[in-house]
Amino acid sequence: MEIVYVENDIEGGKKAFEIIKKGIEDGVKVLGLATGSTPETMYQEIVKSDLDFTDMTSVNLDEYVGLGAGDEQSYHYFMHDRLFNHKPFKENFLPLGKAENLEKECERYDEVIATHPIDIQILGIGQNGHIGFNEPGTDFGVTTHVVDLTESTINANKRYFSSAEEVPSQAISMGIASIMKSKKIVLMAFGESKADAIQKMIEGPVTEDVTASVLQNHDHVVVIIDKDAASKLTIKH
Ligand code: PGA
Repeated sequence: MEIVYVENDIEGGKKAFEIIKKGIEDGVKVLGLATGSTPETMYQEIVKSDLDFTDMTSVNLDEYVGLGAGDEQSYHYFMHDRLFNHKPFKENFLPLGKAENLEKECERYDEVIATHPIDIQILGIGQNGHIGFNEPGTDFGVTTHVVDLTESTINANKRYFSSAEEVPSQAISMGIASIMKSKKIVLMAFGESKADAIQKMIEGPVTEDVTASVLQNHDHVVVIIDKDAASKLTIKH
């Protein structure tokens, strides 16, 4: 893993944007995108830029079960609000949280990923070491699947809702096997709440208990972290 140390999320967002910009110059066409607070500064950089995305495709990591495009807490809404409404793409894919048949929706999404192989996948990391919504214990072999969210994730995400009870208990998530097929992966983490997860991801054993640790097995990973997120690493920088 290549580790890039930054001062804060603003600088981190700029670094991630530079990687995307260079990727597009080199022919990248499909971006795997993430929601949450972590990639927000990167989206701001993209929106500010004069880069043209009308030939680009995005494939998002996940969506809450039960939330649709009109729900302000849905990831569909988040992505349009932060990025797609300001920077039009050729096409944008997200799992459909309101799909009637969730199993079929997972199959459809696997097909989306298969027909749009991801060139650069953007990731955040959960406090419990999840990537996407691949919670601790998720089999590294799974593709798109329905996830029961853990208490740690519900607590971390309740800030977007009026109470923890309103956070959906399930999500549809791209699986680890699909994430690992991305040609390049850029994972960002900012703040002390991510320090444990980052230490385990980089220095711990590769284990399904910390799903991000699988990235040690990928050849093209860039980790962009600030000093708080890096504070538990034993390696010097
Ligand atoms: P965050 O979430 O960016 O809002 O911290 C990251 C994640 O849970 O993967």
